[in-house]
Order: sequence, then C-alpha cells, then structure tokens
Amino acid sequence: GASASAGANSPAVEFRDIDIAYGKFVAVRDFSLSIRKGSFVTLLGPSGCGKTTILRSIAGLVDISGGQIMIDGRRVDDVPIYKRNIGLVFQSYALFPHKNVFDNVAFGLKYRNVPKPEIVRKVGKALDMVRLPGSEKKLPSQLSGGQQQRIALARAIVFEPQVLLLDEPLSALDANMREEMRVEIKKIQKETGITAIFVTHDQEEALSMSDRIVVMNAGAVEQIGTPEEVYETPATAFVADFLGKANMLAGAVSRSGQGTAMVVLGTGQTVSVACPRPLADGSKVTVVARPQKFSVGAGTSANRLSGRVISASYLGGSAIYEIDIGGKTLRANTPISGRVLGEGETIELGFAPDDCVLLDAAGKRIS
Ligand code: ATP
Repeated sequence: GASASAGANSPAVEFRDIDIAYGKFVAVRDFSLSIRKGSFVTLLGPSGCGKTTILRSIAGLVDISGGQIMIDGRRVDDVPIYKRNIGLVFQSYALFPHKNVFDNVAFGLKYRNVPKPEIVRKVGKALDMVRLPGSEKKLPSQLSGGQQQRIALARAIVFEPQVLLLDEPLSALDANMREEMRVEIKKIQKETGITAIFVTHDQEEALSMSDRIVVMNAGAVEQIGTPEEVYETPATAFVADFLGKANMLAGAVSRSGQGTAMVVLGTGQTVSVACPRPLADGSKVTVVARPQKFSVGAGTSANRLSGRVISASYLGGSAIYEIDIGGKTLRANTPISGRVLGEGETIELGFAPDDCVLLDAAGKRIS
C-alpha cells in the first residue's frame, strides 16, 4: 500500500510543526524541518535553545505535544524507542566500562538477535571504519577520549541505522582531537551514506561539517540553509551575530534605488550597501559586515571607514583588529599587507557594497 512504498522518495526525517513542552515550559515551538536522505544536517544554537530536545524527540526519548515526526515517510509518534532504527552518539561516550570494545560495539546487534558470525564481521567492519581495527579486546579505560568516541560511533553505526543522531559528540575532546574527529565523522557519514543529524553550539563545527544548518534560537528556527547561505546571507540579526560575530552598524537610509542604498551610520559615516529593493528615506536599518570583508588601506573600495586601532592580534597570515569608528567598535580580520598596525594608529578600512547585508528595523534581512 501507500505506506509500504512511502520510503523511497520520502525525506529521511520530517518534522511537521512540532511542539515540545516540559510541564508548562515550551522548549520547542512550531518546528518544521525536512531532512533529505544521506544528508548531514546540523542544529546550531546557544545553550538551551532546544537542540537536544529536538534530537531526543527523533529517538522517542522525549514526547512531542503537537505536530508529527515522520521517519522515512512514516509517522513515528507511536513507535516505541526500541523499534526506531536510530543510532545515537552523545557527548559522554557512555561506553560500558567493564565490557571490551567488541561487546560494546556488538551491543545493538546482539539486542537485535543477529547471528554470531555476522556480528563478528559487522563489528570488524565498523572498527575499520572508525580506524581502530583489531581493538576488539581492549577495555574503554585503555583508550583515549578520542578513541572512546570512535568506539561510540562504531557502536552507533554498526547496525546500519536509518538515522544517526550526534549530540555534541566532540565537545569533551581537546581542540586537536576535535578537529580530527570533525573530518573523520564527515568521512564516515559520506562513506556510509547515512543521514546524520548533529547538534552543536560550535559554529565552526557546523560550518565545516554540514550540508545544511538549522540555526535555532529560543525553541524556534531562525534560518535554514547551506553553511554559505547562513554565513553570507544571515536572515536575522541573531544569525549574523551568532555565526561569526558580524559587525552590526545601525543607521538610516538617505537614498536608495538601482540595487543600492546609501546608509548614514550612527557613527556619522555614509556607506553604500547592496539593497534588493528601494526603501523609504529615513528607514532604520542595520548594516551587517563580516570581519573578513574589510580590507585595510581602503584602496579603490566603494566604502571607506576610518578609525583608530584599539587592539591588533597577529595571526600569521592575517590580523584581527578592533577599531574604534566614532564610538563604535568594529572587528576586522584581514590579510596582512605591509606591517600590522599598532594600538592608537589611524586605520582605513575598505569594503564593497556587495560585502554586506541589510537588516530592517525588526532585525530581518531585507530581500
Ligand atoms: P544545550 O546546548 O545546553 O544542551 P539545548 O539547545 O540542547 O541546550 P535543550 O537541552 O533542548 O537545549 O533544552 C531546551 C530548554 O528546555 C532549556 O531551557 C532547558 O532548560 C529545558 N529543558 C530541557 N530538558 C528539560 C527537562 N527534562 N525538564 C524541564 N526543562 C527542560
């Protein structure tokens, strides 16, 4: 029937207007999202915005109070946890400390009554996948944090689940290991073609790993898009600030048309900014400019802002400046041409009209 064939072209996971409440507190409101099979989707947002709650709802670990969740085209509201074919990896590795690697990884297979020879083969394959072949006999205590997390990953993928849920799996690891595991997880996800839903509050993790990012704030979606989309064209002031700490310059439109708007900034300078439609003179707007979009020395840039260096950090190929422009602090991250300017020096920044985004008075991108 229709439901038996629903799977083929259906999204791997679909949320339709779900609400989730803890008692009277509504943690997630009207959340809708469709996740394509084989994709890597990240829920990104500050602590408490509801990411974990949504992830847990897929596994059936929290109940939804409204809406529907579909996995592979089927409603799962009434499907118990153990019948949902889902792999889970958490921040804490949650390995059984007294079981060896083999038994830890084999857990989900034994539970599903897979015959022994097949278990041995599948565990071996999963351990190859996470690059810990031959580690079957080791105990978790004999492994590093990164290795334990690889075992947790092997355990989650060994039974070929429909969906892999990853809840801040890298946050307990040190910086180097974290970067290595980013690449590793992404590689495994691609190789297996598994649909992955990843939760993090780390924007770099989200940008580097995801096919799509869902930026969340206070239980609701702010923007859904590719990493480039959410970074380059933030839909709201929240997204602009949360992803990459954009410079936000308040101002008012003095003239607009032909795809640009002249904006008189609160700091006194006037800049020209790409603007998809004419705006009324005097309209209050915010110019969003990424630190990386500025060049030092303005050159032939359409816009130049001059200011005074508050601080400069040398990063090798580039420098990060904090710059005072008429009482407002700007952040610029620019390649170094010549020398790094010091505190108190005058600096001239250039940027192109296309290098910024305009938000309206409500903090929404003008489109
Ligand atoms: P974090 O990154 O800190 O884990 P998060 O975005 O994953 O945050 P959730 O853990 O989903 O956020 O929590 C969303 C909101 O729901 C928070 O305000 C949290 O305090 C609340 N909350 C979570 N679990 C419960 C619970 N069991 N009972 C009551 N409130 C809860």
